Amino acid sequence: MSKNGLNFYKSVQQNFAKAAPHTKLSAGLLTQIKACNSVYFVQFPVKIDDEVRVIDAFRVQHSHHRLPTKGGIRYSSQVNQEEVMALAALMTYKCAIVDVPFGGAKGGVKISPRKYTTAQLERITRRYTTELVKRNFIGPGIDVPAPDYGTGAREMAWIYDTYQVLQSGEIDAAACVTGKPVGQNGIRGREEATGRGVYYAIRELLNDVSMMKKIGLDVGTDGKTMAIQGLGNVGYHTGRIAQMEGGFKITSVAEFEGAIFSEQGIDIEQLVMHRKETGSILDFPGTSNMRDRTQTLEVACDVLVPAALENQITLENVDRVKAKVIAEAANGPVTSDAIEVLLKKNVIILPDMYANAGGVTVSYFEWLKNLSHMRFGRMEKRFDQKTYLSLVNLVEEKTGSVISDKDKEILARGADEIDLVRSGLEETMVTAYHEIRDWMNVGNDISDLRTAAFVGAIRKVANDYEDRGLFP
Ligand code: NAD
Repeated sequence: MSKNGLNFYKSVQQNFAKAAPHTKLSAGLLTQIKACNSVYFVQFPVKIDDEVRVIDAFRVQHSHHRLPTKGGIRYSSQVNQEEVMALAALMTYKCAIVDVPFGGAKGGVKISPRKYTTAQLERITRRYTTELVKRNFIGPGIDVPAPDYGTGAREMAWIYDTYQVLQSGEIDAAACVTGKPVGQNGIRGREEATGRGVYYAIRELLNDVSMMKKIGLDVGTDGKTMAIQGLGNVGYHTGRIAQMEGGFKITSVAEFEGAIFSEQGIDIEQLVMHRKETGSILDFPGTSNMRDRTQTLEVACDVLVPAALENQITLENVDRVKAKVIAEAANGPVTSDAIEVLLKKNVIILPDMYANAGGVTVSYFEWLKNLSHMRFGRMEKRFDQKTYLSLVNLVEEKTGSVISDKDKEILARGADEIDLVRSGLEETMVTAYHEIRDWMNVGNDISDLRTAAFVGAIRKVANDYEDRGLFP
């Protein structure tokens, strides 16, 4: 049993236990909501060079209260059953918070992707998918994976293709997995979705006058400082969008190889180019290298974004954390005991189950697109454009004013898929933030966002059980 995974699982359970009394639900129902419904462990052989290697892999479906279940697949040498169970449980609560009609699930393959060639990773991915198909653990109405740590659009395309080959003739096959490349029935905006959602969550919090008053921070995002741990999919897009759209100054970034700091701010796009060219974030012009990669977590900043893995802020280093806000872009980056220390220190934490829910939100849009077999915006874009243009022309005619061609183009634009995806994502993250704040305000002694988010999520799952009953 892995200590890291066990601690993570315990943290999720402890956070649940803290919220449970506020829900006023019966002990039996709470136990049912907390339980992992199905755990599948498989060991399969893959030919690597001339030898056979046995790979450990998992798929956990935490809750069947809504189907399909949904959750990413992680490739990491640290993968273990407790970790996948913790991640699957978080998915259930995450989906409930953002009103995505799925149960929670998660997959894990215990490999370090860096140690395999592309062809070997493809073989592993296809064999893992085959195991899921054999056990009925994947399908548009059963369980729909997505990317997570160590996987991306490439792996999702392999999963889709394998599923389609094995389930010949299934017309909705593309909806068996999300996060696919756009050309392979993916959706525009999925790749940036988690990071963009993290940014919207941070923006909502920083615009919340009473929350900012609590920690003595000016309202708004412009000029605020940010430190980021992990420059992968989530960390990169969070940083890029926070910088471009929110006017954030990114003062520190950590990656596997080390950490860098700059009082003046780090250009995230340039940093990613530098890493591509040199293989490292270190020695990026205008920054200084820090002692080691953990230093970023201890930088004095307005917003700290841990976007790598779980259990990064623990009782061991929590006293050295100086951020005013922590946005949990990763799942479980702060252990439950460290959370209590931070809350006493008046640090606001945007909890993972809300902060990184943008990924599953846009995955939901992709799933809907796959089931409808049509790109969002295809039917209405031109119609809207013509209607808006007639309106603009009418205003021009009735008022006698002249509207420039450039302004006309802006005013009379019909929405593309990317516009609709971003709009749907923003609406989801903003609505969920205010819903969580409402749970804090209902007068039942909830003082932190995580407990409020848990209370809201548990109540929503409970509603399904209460309204529909149990069978048989
Ligand atoms: P990723 O593999 O794209 O990126 C993670 C990055 O973190 C990698 O570049 C890795 O080198 C770096 N890293 C690992 N350990 C580190 C350390 N100790 N210090 C500094 N950097 C370190 O993974 P991702 O998809 O961005 O996922 C990151 C986290 O976000 C995970 O916890 C994942 O569960 C969560 N998440 C991801 C998504 C998604 O859509 N990809 C959605 C929700 C939540």
